Amino acid sequence: MHDDIPGVRLSGRPHAGAGPRFEVVEPATGRPIGHVATGTGPDAARAVDVAAAALDGWRATPAPRRGEVLRTIAGRLRAADGLAETVARETGKCRREASAELALAADYFDWYAALAHTLTDQVLSVRPGLRHLVRTGPVGVAAVLTPWNFPVSIPARKIAPALAAGCAVVFKPSELSLLSSLAFAEICESRLPQGLLNTVAGDGPEITGAWLEDRRVRLLHFTGSTAVGRNIAQAAGQALTSVVMELGGRAPFIVLPDADLDEAADTLMVTKFRNNGASCIAANNVWVHEDVRVEFLDRLAARVSALVPGDPLDERTTLGPVRTREMAGRLETLITALSSAGASVHRGPRPEAGGWYVAPTLVVDPATDSPEWREEIFGPVALVRSYTDLKEPIADAAATRHGLAGYVCTGDVAAGTELLTRLDVGIAGVNVATPATPEIPFGGRGDSGIGYEGGVPGLLPFLTHQSIAAPRP
Ligand code: NAD
Repeated sequence: MHDDIPGVRLSGRPHAGAGPRFEVVEPATGRPIGHVATGTGPDAARAVDVAAAALDGWRATPAPRRGEVLRTIAGRLRAADGLAETVARETGKCRREASAELALAADYFDWYAALAHTLTDQVLSVRPGLRHLVRTGPVGVAAVLTPWNFPVSIPARKIAPALAAGCAVVFKPSELSLLSSLAFAEICESRLPQGLLNTVAGDGPEITGAWLEDRRVRLLHFTGSTAVGRNIAQAAGQALTSVVMELGGRAPFIVLPDADLDEAADTLMVTKFRNNGASCIAANNVWVHEDVRVEFLDRLAARVSALVPGDPLDERTTLGPVRTREMAGRLETLITALSSAGASVHRGPRPEAGGWYVAPTLVVDPATDSPEWREEIFGPVALVRSYTDLKEPIADAAATRHGLAGYVCTGDVAAGTELLTRLDVGIAGVNVATPATPEIPFGGRGDSGIGYEGGVPGLLPFLTHQSIAAPRP
C-alpha cells in the first residue's frame, strides 16, 4: 500500500496537496493499493507561475537541442519496466499491453524530437518591395488533461509536441490512473530543465477552472469523454483559450463477403478486446455480410471463448478487468437490456476471483434503434449485426454524431479503402486493427473532437506565428 503519494509536482518537486485524497483501487482485486494527496486551485495557479517562469529559457533553447532532450526521455521510457507493471496493475490492462504503451509513448517523443528540427523562421518575398519575416514559436503555457485508459501514451502524445514546440506544460492526469501518470511525469522531469512540466492531480473543474482563468495558458489540450469535453470547450470558448479535443468514438467495423474470415475475426479481436475494450478507436458496431454471417460468428465465438481473463500481471492473461465497479455494472446492465429486447448473447469465461471482471461478450442482432446500440461501449462487449446492402452500415455510421474511427475487412484492399473514404471518420483501417502511429494525424470529427494529435498536425496547435512586413533592403 502506498499512502499519501504526493499528487502535485511543481518544478520537479513533489508535494501532498490539500485537495481530495483519492483512493487508488486495483481493478483485479477491488482492493485499495494507495492514496494520492491531490492538489487544489491554488496549486494549479502556482503550476502556471512555475511553467511561465521556465518558458523563456526553453523557448530560447535551439529546437534541435530540445529534440535531444526529448530523445533522452524516450530512452528512459523504453527502460521503465517498473512503470509498465504499475500501468497494468492500476488500469487492468495486460502487462504486455502496458509495455507496448510505454514503447508507443517513447515513439511519440522520438517523432516530435525529429520534428523539432523543422521549426525555423522563414523569410518570404511575396509582394514587390516587401520582405515578410514569419517567426514561429511556442504558443506559451499549454494545459494537458488526460483520461485513464492510456495513462502514459496519451499524455506523451500531447507533452512531447508541446515541449518540441518550446511550450511549458501544466498537466492534470485522470484520477483513475494517478500512479501511472505521476510516475510518467517524474520520468519526464528527470530529463527536463526545471519547471517545464508541472503536474496537478485533483478535481477536474477546479483545476481546469484555474487554468482557464489564467491568460498565460494559451491552449487546453484535452482527451476524454464527449460530455466532459463539451463542458470544457464551452468554458474555453468563453475564455477564448484555444482547444484540442480528442473525444469518444463509436467505430463501425464492416466485414465484406470477400473477407478472409479468420483474418477478419483476428482483426476484430484486437480492435474490440485490446486494452480490455477501453479504447476510443475500439470497434463498437460490427456489421457482417449476411452471406458469411454464420461462418464469421462461429469463428468469433470460438475466439471469445478462448480468451483468458485474469490477473493483468500473469503472462497467460489475455483479458484483464474493467477499471471500476461502476463500469462493470454499466456493461452488465447494457447486456441484460439488449438480451431482454431479443438479442442473443454469447459469453466467454470470467475468473471466479474478486475484482471487476466482465466476461467477454458477443451480443448478436441488437436493435439498431436501442439506446445501447448508439452508446460508446468502452468495454469487452461486441455488438454484431448482419447486413445485405452496404447502404445500411454506411447510413448507421452517418446517423451518429461521432466520427473517430472505422474498419473494413475485405479481400479487395482498393474497394475497402474506397468504402472507408465514404465514412466520416478521422482514422481507419482496411484489415488493420491498430491504424494509429505517431507519424500520422489522429483526430475525430463531430462529437469525437476538434483538431489532431500525431503527425505534423499534432505539433501545430502548440505553435504561434508572428509575421513582420518590412521594405526589402
Ligand atoms: P473523462 O471525460 O471522464 O475524464 C477525462 C479527464 O477529464 C480526466 O482527467 C478527468 O479527471 C477530467 N474531468 C472529468 N470531469 C471534468 C470536468 N467537469 N472538468 C474538467 N475536467 C474533468 O474520460 P475517461 O473516462 O477518463 O476516458 C474515457 C473517455 O475518453 C472515452 O469516451 C474515450 O473514448 C475517450 N478517449 C478518447 C481518446 C481520443 O483520442 N479521441 C483517447 C482515449 C480516450
